[in-house]
Amino acid sequence: MTVHFHEEDLPDGVLAGDGPLAVDTETMGLVTRRDRLCLLQISDGSGDEHLVRFAPDSDYAAPNLKAILADPNRVKLYHYARFDLAAIEYYLGVMAAPVFCTKIASKLIRTYTDRHGLKNLVSELLNEDISKQQQSSDWGGAELNAAQREYAASDVRYLHRMRTILIERLEREGRLEMAQACFDFLPTRARLDIAGWEEHDIFSHS
Ligand code: MN
Repeated sequence: MTVHFHEEDLPDGVLAGDGPLAVDTETMGLVTRRDRLCLLQISDGSGDEHLVRFAPDSDYAAPNLKAILADPNRVKLYHYARFDLAAIEYYLGVMAAPVFCTKIASKLIRTYTDRHGLKNLVSELLNEDISKQQQSSDWGGAELNAAQREYAASDVRYLHRMRTILIERLEREGRLEMAQACFDFLPTRARLDIAGWEEHDIFSHS
């Protein structure tokens, strides 16, 4: 298990197979159009994580990364895909789908709790403990410290294993089809956020 660090793009051929890819992003904040994409983490589930850092003056060219993210034959796993899809679409110009979102799966299946954060889910499903201490740190600097790298990598480390468990539970309760329909809508939900409907639920009566 190794955390690999790259600048501006993923090297050729570092991801294995043609299975799902776990993806996460770190940005300067929560307002996509204001807060630039600083880091993208990606893992093929074999135990290594790759961190791709973007400089403040990046042109976000990243041809290797974009090709993988846009590949329609590789499912991308996220925890709260809505945010990552918007950041990737806005800065890299690709829609990183098809999608599996562990947060939405959790909300559809773990109806006995309202705790759907990554730390909570990893703890309950996998009995692993992840630190969220670096969540609000400065991701824009020239150097990421060891704690930041470990935190960033841990955000994609458990998504493959959790997907397997969540699919079993969704199947058991007859909610897999509904979950898939929600995942399929997420690219549109992210585009609505970028286009200005982030605070407005277009499905609500008012
Ligand atoms: Mn993260």
